Amino acid sequence: MVRDFIPTGIGITTGIGQCAYRCLYCQIALHEPATFGVDRYAAVIDRFLDYKEKTGFNFSQWMGYSFDISAADFFKQIALCKRCGYDQTSFLLGGVRLMADDELKKWYEERLALGCDYVGASYFGHSETHDYWNNQPGQFEFQVRAQKTALSMGMKVGQRLFLLKSTLPMMEELLDILDETSGADASRAAFPLFYSGLARRYDDERVTLEMLDNQPDRVKAVYRSDKPNWKSEKDWITWILDGKDAFKPSFLNLNLSDANIDEIERMSCQEIVDDLTLKTKKAYAPIPDTCELADRYGDRTNEKVYMFLWDMECLWVDRFLEQHPEIRIDRELTYFGR
Ligand code: SF4
Repeated sequence: MVRDFIPTGIGITTGIGQCAYRCLYCQIALHEPATFGVDRYAAVIDRFLDYKEKTGFNFSQWMGYSFDISAADFFKQIALCKRCGYDQTSFLLGGVRLMADDELKKWYEERLALGCDYVGASYFGHSETHDYWNNQPGQFEFQVRAQKTALSMGMKVGQRLFLLKSTLPMMEELLDILDETSGADASRAAFPLFYSGLARRYDDERVTLEMLDNQPDRVKAVYRSDKPNWKSEKDWITWILDGKDAFKPSFLNLNLSDANIDEIERMSCQEIVDDLTLKTKKAYAPIPDTCELADRYGDRTNEKVYMFLWDMECLWVDRFLEQHPEIRIDRELTYFGR
């Protein structure tokens, strides 16, 4: 059955917050430049806020690849989030340039003054293994130190621990290091690699449920609370063929870059939505529905774990497109584009 797509909202992203890294597993993969500044970005978002008021058409927004932006731009970002109806109180260390303690403290103070007091970081094992995945020598030492500094300044810290074949054996050592530096004050959540962006190249690093269930209790205790929903490919196929819920995409994707900002500014919101809807419907149309993807492109022997149906489907779409090289789609318009 051909896929239809009925939009109820638009996700607007841009790369104003430039990322200092090129992680091997990056979900974004393409870091399109956005040098046009926060004011022009915010003006587009404000127009979609008005459009939402008038039409009920939803939207989400995300300003960039890292939180390493000037204090003035961060102030504007926070004000924009408020206008969008939520408070930005957290930020991540991913993509942030490595800083010495003095510079880091000043950077934190600027953010604390704006009400941001939660510092998140992702860990891929520890030491050289973590630095390898983040493509950045010294990044592990920086993050551990940065989170310790954050705690000493009264901030809260969160730690995301990635469960890969190569990081599982060092999970206890990682927990030892983090316990010593951030103690029981950190919130932690461990989960497998997503299947999107550049991480798609590392499916041989993907863990199985059996591997996860055979870890020490201390490691199992930090698995993210949605672990009961994670499934092997084999189980996702059964889930879908048994008629359980499939994910229904409903958001258009608009990435604002130096290449398209002038054109977007000239268009009305309605024109943007109409144009993207046409293109997105065209992108989805050749892709079989979820049942057919599972049935024809699923591997019924695969025990590896995928957290969400969307990342499972992303793999099935990869296989579908490999087998049908004549089919070309604007993938970044779909939720298989990640
Ligand atoms: S820090 Fe985030 S955005 Fe930057 S390369 Fe790494 S994963 Fe991608």
